[in-house]
Amino acid sequence: MGGTFDPIHYGHLFAAEKARHALSLDRVIFVPAGAPPHKRYDVMAPAEDRYAMTLLAVNDNEAFDVSRIEIDRGGRSYTADTLEEMERIYADADFFFIVGVDTALDIPNWYRPDKIFSLCTVVAVARPGFLRDKIVELTPETRESLVVVDSTLMDVSATEIRNRVRDGLSANHLTPEAVCEYMRKKRLYSNMGES
Ligand code: ATP
Repeated sequence: MGGTFDPIHYGHLFAAEKARHALSLDRVIFVPAGAPPHKRYDVMAPAEDRYAMTLLAVNDNEAFDVSRIEIDRGGRSYTADTLEEMERIYADADFFFIVGVDTALDIPNWYRPDKIFSLCTVVAVARPGFLRDKIVELTPETRESLVVVDSTLMDVSATEIRNRVRDGLSANHLTPEAVCEYMRKKRLYSNMGES
């Protein structure tokens, strides 16, 4: 599961667990982006903090891991490059790229989308506000390497958490307590402008 994880939240964790059960996956590896191509990364928390929070959040789930692959590679974090690298590392694995439906619909606009769809099955998990019906608008080739997983909708986003912290509100119940504590300790997001 790739993402900015700025910060990680229960929407990510719940989507990952849903996908894992639905498809009987052995492990879910969370891959925090070093420098996501599609986001304004001048206003993001540092990669090391996003990585540390992701580690804290997955700590109590034995099937969850976190990879530094995109952070250590440097440069822009393209999913196609990551999948190629992971294929070399885990030569015997079958890959599933877990995303929200919003992201699944956007992948055809990413760097080397054909590579992405050929190296993995994209798993699109339902997300509030994004119509899964739109999946039919994807090309038949794309739809062939995509599965949709229905899930109880978790109406939480990293943007909401950053805005709450900036406004002095608590993020309890939106992300694990260890992540809340880390944000407090490192004063993440508290001096942020509007996002
Ligand atoms: P931001 O609010 O900063 O845009 P985000 O909450 O969308 O962030 P990302 O790290 O960009 O988080 O998301 C990583 C992946 O998790 C994406 O594929 C996204 O669609 C998915 N995702 C995020 N929140 C949810 C959610 N509540 N339910 C299902 N999928 C989600």
